[in-house]
Amino acid sequence: MHTGTTELQSFATDPRTLVCELCNLFYQFGWASGTGGGISIKENDHIFMAPSSVQKERLHPEDIFVLSLDGKVLSHPGKELLLSQCHPLFMAVYQLRNAGAVLHSHSLNAVLVTLLYQNYFKIQNMEMQKGISGHGALDTLEIPIIENTAYESELTESLSLAIKSHPLSSAILVRHHGVYIWGKDWIQAKTQAECYDYLFEASIRMHQLGLIRDQSN
Ligand SMILES: [Zn+2]
Repeated sequence: MHTGTTELQSFATDPRTLVCELCNLFYQFGWASGTGGGISIKENDHIFMAPSSVQKERLHPEDIFVLSLDGKVLSHPGKELLLSQCHPLFMAVYQLRNAGAVLHSHSLNAVLVTLLYQNYFKIQNMEMQKGISGHGALDTLEIPIIENTAYESELTESLSLAIKSHPLSSAILVRHHGVYIWGKDWIQAKTQAECYDYLFEASIRMHQLGLIRDQSN
């Protein structure tokens, strides 16, 4: 059975529904528990974004905010819902990278690698690196790590600086917090996030097994 075809057919094409489906999936992965994390999707001139501080696995299409490309709220879902605290970070990625989708994960694997590495997460010679844009299996993959702040929106400046100074990167890690990952569309953002999480977990296990001794960088 070709599972990729089945998976593609099972996702909605309406962006509001798609944000809900992907948030639910990321909750199942452990990337969006406790109301954290999520994904936003750009379609034509609109950006679709889940609200702040809600259970990401229980969203409905009518809960989704719609923003313009310059960050103005075009459609507010009402119901006392608040715009995502990630929205300035998502907007920074859209504007600096012309991304088609940006996701934010609180994956424990992402958090743990920020405690194993100083300035950059590094891994090399892993087949799953092929799933990351611009990387081959024999390359060294590096992801910048920025320091966490008390509020999500306060990360905007350091995230923007890291994006500008690492033009090949499609992810930025946040210490003790998680990771921002983007792609040219939601499919690339999702599949790259799966590859990144695999590589984070691989690195953690390699450290546990004593296979990596020098992570200075
Ligand atoms: Zn967060």
